[in-house]
Amino acid sequence: MPDTFNCGDSGQHSEGMESMDGAAVVEKCKFASFIERIASEVSVVTPVPRGSGEFSFAEVQDASSLQNPSYRPTLNSPKKYFLPPQEVLFRFTGKSGTSVRGGEEVQYEQDIESPRRVLLAVRPCDLAAIQRMDEVFRAAEPDHHYLQRRQRSIIIGLDCPEPCDEFAFCAAMGTSEVDEGFDLLLVDLDDVWYVRIGTKRGEEFLAECPGVRAAGGDDVREVQRVQKAKERAFERCAQDLPVPREDLPELLRRAEESPVWEEYGERCLGCGRCNLVCPTCFCFDVEDIVALDLGKGERRRRWDACTLLEFAAVAGGENFRRDRADRLRHMFQHKGRYAPERYGELFCTGCGRCARTCLAGIIPTEVYGALREDVKDGVDET
Ligand code: SF4
Ligand code: SF4
Repeated sequence: MPDTFNCGDSGQHSEGMESMDGAAVVEKCKFASFIERIASEVSVVTPVPRGSGEFSFAEVQDASSLQNPSYRPTLNSPKKYFLPPQEVLFRFTGKSGTSVRGGEEVQYEQDIESPRRVLLAVRPCDLAAIQRMDEVFRAAEPDHHYLQRRQRSIIIGLDCPEPCDEFAFCAAMGTSEVDEGFDLLLVDLDDVWYVRIGTKRGEEFLAECPGVRAAGGDDVREVQRVQKAKERAFERCAQDLPVPREDLPELLRRAEESPVWEEYGERCLGCGRCNLVCPTCFCFDVEDIVALDLGKGERRRRWDACTLLEFAAVAGGENFRRDRADRLRHMFQHKGRYAPERYGELFCTGCGRCARTCLAGIIPTEVYGALREDVKDGVDET
């Protein structure tokens, strides 16, 4: 297999990684054998059942999980492979007692754990989320830890024939269909996979799989039939927002002082679960662990959550968002208003993970509905 894991940037927008307009077809059994061979050489991660109908991304040795592609979304999104829940950013050593303040005598060591990896069967909503994360970690100050892992990963998406459950509102958020954000995208055509080729790297990867042929007219007609069925299946999901998604920033602006935040803040436990499972939440905390003699130490980061009490706490005992209502409002405002202002995209893909996991039953579409009721004037209904 050529080293397709190291061919520069991981995204669609970089030189040498331009999106290709192509598709192929491969028998499922041949693709499964190919993945099994690949798994002996690199890490292959895909959703696997965890009991009670739950799934999580984990390393596998074969593609047997693709036999039953109708899984519920994983509890955690695949972002954990690019931004681990916690990691060491660098270690430093120096002369005992003097060195940690910086200067020539300090030695830094950076060891980024980034195995070659194939992410298999990533859903369209998560592909859309990865694109947003890419934007964050490329912008301003490129994050080498994140970007190195992205560069060494191949992403194989899996199209959804229908919404995964009642919590998903991906179609309303425009993420049930994706044209980019994957190296390859699998569409289920019974005995074969119709494979959309998203990048040159994806094409090179697929070329190593035996039995692949270019998609013909019959394949294209079949995938169009599947596509039509998908559109019908997603009709309800596409109606799940009380306003068009383009109007969410304006709705949130007008609802800045809405009493709805107090109402939901009363119910919210401030537990942070919604942030932690969200595929587009990217906040992290950084801490330095330093030896008592100041001669060595390490800088670590770990996921943080804006719904947690300590998130906005600062030195001196102040906390800018002590109330749960303020923290909940901030999370919604960030996803639906601040992030679009900065990155040009809503930072919610409608994956429904937050609603599925919230012990207080707080569901984003219901919150938007309550805000819409409270701020009726000037925001169009869908
Ligand atoms: S909205 Fe739900 S999951 Fe999020 S902090 Fe509040 S109780 Fe926890
Ligand atoms: S806010 Fe909720 S529905 Fe939106 S992307 Fe995050 S977890 Fe998914």
